[in-house]
Amino acid sequence: ETTRKSKPDWLRVKLPVGKEYAKVRQLVDDHKLHTICQSGNCPNMGECWGAGTATFMILGNVCTRSCSFCAVATGRPTEYDTDEPRRVAEAVKLMTVKHCVITSVNRDELKDRGAEVWYQTVRAIKEVSPQTTIETLIPDVKGNWDALERMISAGQEVVSHNMETVKRLYRLVRPQAKYERSLEQIQRIKNFGKRTKSGIMLGLGETEKEVYEAMDDLLAHGLDVLTLGQYLQPTKMHLGVVNFIHPDQFKKYKEVGLQKGFNYVESGPLVRSSYHAERHI
Ligand code: SF4
Ligand code: SF4
Repeated sequence: ETTRKSKPDWLRVKLPVGKEYAKVRQLVDDHKLHTICQSGNCPNMGECWGAGTATFMILGNVCTRSCSFCAVATGRPTEYDTDEPRRVAEAVKLMTVKHCVITSVNRDELKDRGAEVWYQTVRAIKEVSPQTTIETLIPDVKGNWDALERMISAGQEVVSHNMETVKRLYRLVRPQAKYERSLEQIQRIKNFGKRTKSGIMLGLGETEKEVYEAMDDLLAHGLDVLTLGQYLQPTKMHLGVVNFIHPDQFKKYKEVGLQKGFNYVESGPLVRSSYHAERHI
């Protein structure tokens, strides 16, 4: 049995208050949208929403997968909302952001894995906000490379796909994904000509050596931007935190990552893949 360890000081966050925060909340509600900020219990909502930005999660709020770290509900999705792209685009426009991040649940039950809604969403944003740059944080397409191509061919600037953890912990953390297949997905995104980005959560029992091995594998598969953050247990039903990584260790990972050759490394306890995303393009 895992015990809930108390959080160290460096994980204290700003409370979600203020005018901008309220405006983002209103936008999300008015447009009937989902955000990974809310669905993933992100600790940075005070900061990001307070700065007027959020990460929309498209294709519904129910995921076909059950990754043991993730707070998003698992089940059989019923939503297939072809009007969602329009509403996302309108909300992005009203947020008046220079850069936005869009993500989605996994839709393994759909033949195209949701690629068409992905495509239409990016097109809709580009149409109403041509100056806004876009990062799409896409799911594992399980080797459906046609779906991948559709998903990433709508003109977005950055395409991210999170590895989430080191190779050894895949079965525990991402049981329906495969380490090598996710690396291949990243390589294909790079070959397609996109800026590539991926994230790893730390504190799940990985060793320093394993983190460096993951870095080497990612570099060998064309990764440009790496994000590293502390895993936090969303509820008692989810994987427990094995250890809290000290901020100095995050700094070390950043330095080593840059030396190894990443173009950009965002590394710190509260880093999530969409955190400070405007710096990653
Ligand atoms: Fe949302 Fe990402 Fe900011 Fe978290 S870090 S609040 S998920 S935009
Ligand atoms: Fe969560 Fe994504 Fe895994 Fe679904 S595929 S459970 S949204 S991490």
